[in-house]
Amino acid sequence: MEKKQFQAESKRLLEMMVNSIYSQKEIFLRELISNASDAIDKMYYRSLTDDSLEFEQEKYAVFIEANKDARTLTLKDTGIGMTKAELEANLGTIAKSGSLAFKKENEIKDGHDIIGQFGVGFYAAFMVADKVSVLSRSVDSEEAFRWESDGTDGYTIEPAEKNEVGTEITLHLKENGDEESFDDYLEEYRLKQIIKKYSDFIRYPIKMNVTVS
Ligand code: ADP
Ligand code: MG
Repeated sequence: MEKKQFQAESKRLLEMMVNSIYSQKEIFLRELISNASDAIDKMYYRSLTDDSLEFEQEKYAVFIEANKDARTLTLKDTGIGMTKAELEANLGTIAKSGSLAFKKENEIKDGHDIIGQFGVGFYAAFMVADKVSVLSRSVDSEEAFRWESDGTDGYTIEPAEKNEVGTEITLHLKENGDEESFDDYLEEYRLKQIIKKYSDFIRYPIKMNVTVS
């Protein structure tokens, strides 16, 4: 297992997410679903030029699994996946559009609730989770890797098992505080409400499964 540090700018954005200065935490789901959808798009485009890949429409979907007993929320996609290098580059640094746009705007306005106007991106997961685990296998690799972080002290990366290409992101929800219950994000009605509000336009099916244990 390798232990790495986040890039300085990532740390700053993460700190804001972890300390949850932003009230609309529900947008984390929008960000993760849009990433899953982007990853499936990439797989589709790849299949257009790669004859060895067949894009079977029915295989492509975003799966959401809530486990009430474990207090975990998992998002699985059958998208393009990430190699080890991509996990490090994409999740360890802020180089990507959404996060960058937010950062720039934030430096100017220095407001609190403006985050929602931008794609804060993957790090939004740390508003509701104190541990995030990303298991991924790239279409370009036979190997899978697990990226894991508590959002503060860097991240770890290690080889893992995954039979299919794609990504599986598990959020270990934060303990319920005095002011809010993160358990809500394990309720089917609540998840549906958030998906309807922000992800209605996603062109792949979003499938949900809530289990008690
Ligand atoms: P953005 O989506 O604006 O690029 P994010 O912070 O949401 O920024 O995501 C950063 C990057 O991480 C993405 O650009 C993508 O390369 C990678 N990524 C995130 N989630 C996934 C996923 N489910 N499958 C494949 N790649 C992903
Ligand atoms: Mg994104």
